[in-house]
Amino acid sequence: MSSRIYDLVIVGGGAAGLMAAALAAETDSRVILLEKNEQCGRKLLLTGKGRCNITNGRSWEDFKNHIHPDSGFFRPSFMAFSNKDTVEFFNKIGLGTVEERGSRIYPASGKSSDVRDALESRIKSSSNVEVLYRSEVISVEVLQNGVFRLDVLSLAGKMSMTVLAAKSVIIATGGLSYPATGSTGDGYSFAQRLGHTVVPTRPSLTALIPFNYNFSLSGLILRNVSLSLIVDGGVVQEEFGEVAFTKGGIEGPLGFRVSRRAVDALDEGKKVEVEIDCKPAVPEQELKCRIEREYVHGLRLSRFIEHFLPLQAVKPFMDAHPSLTVSSLPVRLKHWRIPIKTYVDYRRAVVTAGGVDLREISRKNMESKIVPGLYFAGEVVDLDADTGGYNLQIAFSTAASAVRSALSDYADRN
Ligand SMILES: Cc1cc2nc3c(=O)[nH]c(=O)nc-3n(C[C@H](O)[C@H](O)[C@H](O)COP(=O)(O)OP(=O)(O)OC[C@H]3O[C@@H](n4cnc5c(N)ncnc54)[C@H](O)[C@@H]3O)c2cc1C
Repeated sequence: MSSRIYDLVIVGGGAAGLMAAALAAETDSRVILLEKNEQCGRKLLLTGKGRCNITNGRSWEDFKNHIHPDSGFFRPSFMAFSNKDTVEFFNKIGLGTVEERGSRIYPASGKSSDVRDALESRIKSSSNVEVLYRSEVISVEVLQNGVFRLDVLSLAGKMSMTVLAAKSVIIATGGLSYPATGSTGDGYSFAQRLGHTVVPTRPSLTALIPFNYNFSLSGLILRNVSLSLIVDGGVVQEEFGEVAFTKGGIEGPLGFRVSRRAVDALDEGKKVEVEIDCKPAVPEQELKCRIEREYVHGLRLSRFIEHFLPLQAVKPFMDAHPSLTVSSLPVRLKHWRIPIKTYVDYRRAVVTAGGVDLREISRKNMESKIVPGLYFAGEVVDLDADTGGYNLQIAFSTAASAVRSALSDYADRN
């Protein structure tokens, strides 16, 4: 084992690991960040379509409704390092920010690479935090004296194994989604080997694939519609906004918002449908009167429907309702039901639901209740959120909680 004992080893240089290391750079502690890729933050670069929606400016009262499965667990981390603290921190390290529609906050430059680079510059400006790239942690063990032993496979240059010793460890290895970015679920096995339970993982914020999906819908965006998720015949969730049809299936803000529950219901073998109300602002009776008033006898129904739907949607809408008539049109426009067959897997799911069981982690400081000195931050824990900057805030807040406790608590524990 290396003779150097680090105060803290951070495993994974994604959003959470980079934030933990950047905050550690404000201390004198000996810290090392290990990232298995040749660069940090590969997923961070993809976020917000390359613009990185860093956080959301809403108050906790609103913010908490977007956190799953237990916003109460997340509350202390958020209070200790909130969305406002995130913005202040980035501004302090030289990254300007802007707030846009839906209180979404982005870097002013519009470039996710600037977020990653700002964090890395802060880390590299310190003399106490080292960063090792192409360094994959293979195992994390705790020795009898409470010190951690980490086996690290170095892929930089000649392949070699190194053993590191640390007083504390933060596991920030992410989830399973977009595995090509390095998030391959390694943290779950480290946690399990150290005695933790992992709540079964599944993709979330992912596209729903209808039965006999009509690919001609791909590219269509329906705005100002409402979308209901129907499980075994009953409405379980209703959302208003924008639905996007892509090559993958039904997504966009509304599709993603219902995907968490839809995935669980599909996994449980339940019947899942979504229902689109194309005219949510107009009651059905009023729509019926309007259609009766405006329909000119002899006009092809497909031409008439162009008044109510974008052109691209007309044929798939007609295909979905083979016996459509003028009199059934209002009810069909208000209740366009699409049976869902399955969902897109981790390769294109934005986040992973499930993860290290919250009951075994202290909500106060993200420390394991099983192994003192072991911390978790980011998507590896059983926390996930809706789109809108909430997931990165989970990563930043939990990282801040963990690092502050890890670097102040060791003296108290020994
Ligand atoms: C396409 C896309 C767009 C998104 N857009 C947004 C957005 O705009 N706003 C938002 O809030 N959220 C967004 N998210 C979600 C957000 O990116 C994640 O929730 C967040 O990155 C999780 O951070 P993390 O640090 O926990 O994990 P990750 O960012 O996944 O980082 C984990 C890191 O650990 C490294 N690692 C893994 N195992 C090991 C090991 N054994 N040894 C060493 N290193 C290891 C990985 O290589 C990786 O770099 C988006 C996600 C995707 C996929």
